[in-house]
Amino acid sequence: MDIYDRLGIRKRVNGAGLLTRLGGSLMAAEVLDAMREAAGAYVDMAELQTCASAIIARHTGAQAGIVTGGAAAAITLATAACITRHDVARMERLPDTAGMPNEVIMFRAHRNSYDHAFRAAGAKIVEVGFNDRSVGSGVRGLEAWEIETAIGPATAAIGYAANFTRQPPLPDVVAVARKHSIPVIVDAAAQLPPRENLRRFIGEGASLVAYSGGKSIRGPQGSGILCGEKDLIAAALIQNLDMDILLETWRPPAGLLDGHYSERIPHHGVGRGFKVDKESIVGLLVALERFAAADDSAENGRREKQLETLARKLGGAPQVKATLLSAAATRRYPVLEIEAGSAAGAAELSRALQQQSPPVHLNERRMHEGILIVDSASLRPGDETLIADAIGVAFKGAGRQAG
Ligand SMILES: *Cc1c(COP(=O)(O)O)cnc(C)c1O
Repeated sequence: MDIYDRLGIRKRVNGAGLLTRLGGSLMAAEVLDAMREAAGAYVDMAELQTCASAIIARHTGAQAGIVTGGAAAAITLATAACITRHDVARMERLPDTAGMPNEVIMFRAHRNSYDHAFRAAGAKIVEVGFNDRSVGSGVRGLEAWEIETAIGPATAAIGYAANFTRQPPLPDVVAVARKHSIPVIVDAAAQLPPRENLRRFIGEGASLVAYSGGKSIRGPQGSGILCGEKDLIAAALIQNLDMDILLETWRPPAGLLDGHYSERIPHHGVGRGFKVDKESIVGLLVALERFAAADDSAENGRREKQLETLARKLGGAPQVKATLLSAAATRRYPVLEIEAGSAAGAAELSRALQQQSPPVHLNERRMHEGILIVDSASLRPGDETLIADAIGVAFKGAGRQAG
C-alpha cells in the first residue's frame, strides 16, 4: 500500500501531458533525495534564494533569478516588481495601484486564461493589435506603432505570451519597450523544451521571464522560475519573502537584496501568499541542473519508440486511426494522435477511458476536431500497454452499446 492507496486516491495513467490538474510532472530520485536533505535543516530563506539566483543566472543567461511558487506566481511577482520597483510605500499598497503606473500592454492575440496572474498584482491589461492572423481575416499582425501609441505615463510593463509562432517577434517588442524604458515580462511557462529556450527570451532582450518548474523541468509541482534584470528580481523577491524581521538586526545576504532597503523594509508583500518552501527551492535547482544536462534527442527517441509500441498495439482495434508526430514536428515532445471520428466520439472515448480502473487520461486540446492526443511527456514505462488495453476496452464497450 502506498500513500495514495492509504488515502483512497486512485492513481491515474497520464497520457495527457504535464498538466497541473493531473499532478504536473514526476520527479527523479535525485531531486527527491535533495528535497529530503533540505527538509532536515533550518536556513535563511533570503540566503537560499540568493544562492538560487546565481544558479538560475548560470542556466538562463539572466542577471538574476528566484524560485517561485509556479510560473503564475512568477508573473504576479514580476508585475508587482514592475509596478513598485523599490518603493516600499507602493509595495505596502498592492494590489491597490491607484495613482501608480499600473498598465500592462498586451497583444490581443496573446490574451489567455493565465492573464489573471498579471491582474492579481493590481495591473490593468491594455490590449493592442487585432486578431487578423489567428482568425484568418487578414494578413497583418501586431505592428510596433500600435504598442508605441499605447505607451504612456501609466504603463508599467509589456506582457508577452511566448509561443512557437513567435508573433510578433519578441525582439521587435523589446525594441519599442527599450525606447521608452518599459520592462517586458515574458510568460514562458510551457516553452520548455527545447532547452535552448532557457536562454532564448533573455537573449532576445526580455526583462523578466517566467517558467514552470513543475512541467518539463520536472521539479516540484508547485515551483517555478522568475529570471531577469537583477533590480527587478530583487523587487520581486522582497515581495515574496516573509518580512517579519527588524531593520536593526536584518542583514540581507550579499548579491541580490543588499544595496536596497537599508533605510526601511517593506512588510509582507502581495506575494507573501506564494511562499516557496526550502525543499522546493532545492528540488527545483537540482531538477534544473538535470534538465540542462539532459540529452533531448535520446529521450525523444525513447518516447517515439514507446508511442510506436502503443500504435502497434492499437492496430488490433480497427476503428482506431493513430498518427505519430515526432518531436521535430511538434517542436516539443513526440505525440500519438488518435482519431475518434467526431468531437462527440472523442468526448465519449475520453469519458470512457477516465472511468476505467485505473483511470486513463489523454490530452483533449484537439477534441473539438475529433482527436485525442497521447502526449509522451507524461508517460511512464509500461503506460503504453495500459493505454492500449484501455482504448481496446472502451471501443468494445461502445461496440456492444451500438450493436
Ligand atoms: C502552465 C502555464 C502557466 C502557469 O504555470 P504554473 O507553474 O502552473 O503556475 C502560465 N502560463 C502558461 C502559458 C502555462 O502553460
